[in-house]
Amino acid sequence: MGGGELLGKKEIDEVVGVLERGVLFRYGFNEKRKDIFKVQEFEEMIAGYMGVKYALAVASGTAAVRVALASLGIEPGDEVITQSFTFVATIEAILEAGAIPVIAEVDQSFNMDPKDLETKITNKTKAIIPVHMLGVPAKMDEICNVAKRHGIKVLEDSCQACGSSYKGRKTGTIGDIGCFSFDFVKTITTGEGGMVVTNDEGMYLRGDYFQDHGHEHRPDIPRGKDSKSITGFNYRMSEIQGAIGVIQLSRLDYVISQQRKNKARIKDAIGNINGLEFRELPDKDGDGGDTLIFLLPESQMAKDVEDILTKGGIETKILPSALGWHYIGNWNHIISRLNRQMGKEAYRRDMWPKSDSILNRAIAIGISVNMADDYIDRIITGIHKAARLVLG
Ligand SMILES: *Cc1c(COP(=O)(O)O)cnc(C)c1O
Repeated sequence: MGGGELLGKKEIDEVVGVLERGVLFRYGFNEKRKDIFKVQEFEEMIAGYMGVKYALAVASGTAAVRVALASLGIEPGDEVITQSFTFVATIEAILEAGAIPVIAEVDQSFNMDPKDLETKITNKTKAIIPVHMLGVPAKMDEICNVAKRHGIKVLEDSCQACGSSYKGRKTGTIGDIGCFSFDFVKTITTGEGGMVVTNDEGMYLRGDYFQDHGHEHRPDIPRGKDSKSITGFNYRMSEIQGAIGVIQLSRLDYVISQQRKNKARIKDAIGNINGLEFRELPDKDGDGGDTLIFLLPESQMAKDVEDILTKGGIETKILPSALGWHYIGNWNHIISRLNRQMGKEAYRRDMWPKSDSILNRAIAIGISVNMADDYIDRIITGIHKAARLVLG
């Protein structure tokens, strides 16, 4: 699960400190809070860790994607391309901005297929959102090449890949702007929370204004008299979240190294099973390690393997257990909303055959930080047994 497993005395002390100072708001009250600003400290730490100029904390990962779309200047009617396999929040943020989500296929990396991406570009495309699903970086070289050729901005949804990297750079920092989530089940957690990162000052400032009702945060002016030039919303992070984030970030490298170690043990022990194929890793050194995915030759076999694993007390993660929340082919509510909005049958559930075939043959095993040795052994034995029964 990640940092949520490690919540402890340090987080408790930081939260108590915030409550003792009595300021739960990220701005102002300098004297009362003794000039201690935890959200700001968390932002500075993230910027340093990620190697970017600007980090902007917000209330959630969903808010981060929405704010980043505002940073990019996305307007109602603009098309934004993302991928078929993602958490529904990516699409919700696009809809919330009034933009039109256009959905590209995923390939065997379980992330955006750069070839299909290129076929989805029109003269209305204003942004591309690759999602680094389940800790693994997308094919950023190929995706950024397509984007550059067409003059389109790239927003990385790195909500599931905080601390992962691609060819030596942290995911979220490779495109024009990136997003992270700190909800309870993500790599590190602040309960609820998110972050936007960028090297572009203009994008940072637009996001900063947007997440706080348009406030320009002029240090020389009291908040009530602050200047404004755009409308915004309230997507602010609270001081308590910031205080937890400062500690959780200090645990991130440990989280990732433990997950990678546990994942490698399982992967090594099932690598010799004939007929199992592993997820393609665009940079195997950049994997956050929170999930191990393998494919069966046919979807019925995947269903049978899932059954056997579940009966043996081994749970799957998203694939297939929560695919209903992570695949456009299962989102009637969004497809019908989009068709109403467009006034025609522009979207159908069978428009992503490649994704369909990959996702329905996949099994994902969740990897955690504190994984008992006997649970790891049980997973290994369980997969061997299931493969023997299903693959013969
Ligand atoms: C979790 C997640 C989000 C949203 O983050 P929240 O903090 O839960 O709002 C967005 N995109 C992806 C890919 C996610 O997994």
